[in-house]
Amino acid sequence: MIIVLTGAPGAGKGTQADLLVKRDGYKTLSTGSALRKHIQAGTPIGKVAEGLVTKGHLVPDDVLLKILEEELKGTETEVVLLDGYPRNLNQAKDLETALVKHRVKGVVALEVPKDELIRRISGRLVCSKCGATYHETMNPPRVKGVCDNCGALGLARRADDAPDKVATRLEVYENATKPVLDYYKSKGVCRVIDGNRGTEDVYQDLHTAIEHLTGGASRTSRSVEQPQV
Ligand code: AMP
Repeated sequence: MIIVLTGAPGAGKGTQADLLVKRDGYKTLSTGSALRKHIQAGTPIGKVAEGLVTKGHLVPDDVLLKILEEELKGTETEVVLLDGYPRNLNQAKDLETALVKHRVKGVVALEVPKDELIRRISGRLVCSKCGATYHETMNPPRVKGVCDNCGALGLARRADDAPDKVATRLEVYENATKPVLDYYKSKGVCRVIDGNRGTEDVYQDLHTAIEHLTGGASRTSRSVEQPQV
């Protein structure tokens, strides 16, 4: 079963997904991370995606569908937190039709004001080895430049976190992704969480919302009949 974790770039989806994996044992799938892995490995998907991701534009829907089909294989009975998908209405439709085996149980949205999103993204550092994220001042690693999670020495800014790319990504969010949120809100399946608080407070609300949606299932889902999207 899928829980869609949505929100603008910088809303904290990645940070919260990391906590939900570590503390609750959920599986997460970040389409942004999957694309970055393809780009790093120079796969055909990576070659299509590279220029678009670097500029802050969306990668074509058929490419994303291929990634999801591949990454979600064999996870039908698990809870998967989907981070960064769907990002437009067509992808939301794909989730309901092409990926029908993976039932969407609900949508949790993190809301953060725009100036705070920009502040967060402008200080963001990412481990080039394991993808763990930090913030220069709000969530620095224990040792400067060293990843707490895997010990790698490669903390760097993402190319698409440069100010002009961030402006594009926020525009894409407003134009393409916000309508997805409105769609889920209109269906009554979206729980909005105030993401403009400390990491722990946001985590507690997310944890509760997801427990409620999944009936407490984590790695292996128990079969709970609840309304689905
Ligand atoms: P993220 O790590 O979620 O901020 O995603 C980084 C970038 O990957 C985005 O700015 C897009 O270029 C691309 N991307 C991630 N998810 C999707 C998606 N669902 N559809 C299209 N492009 C995506």
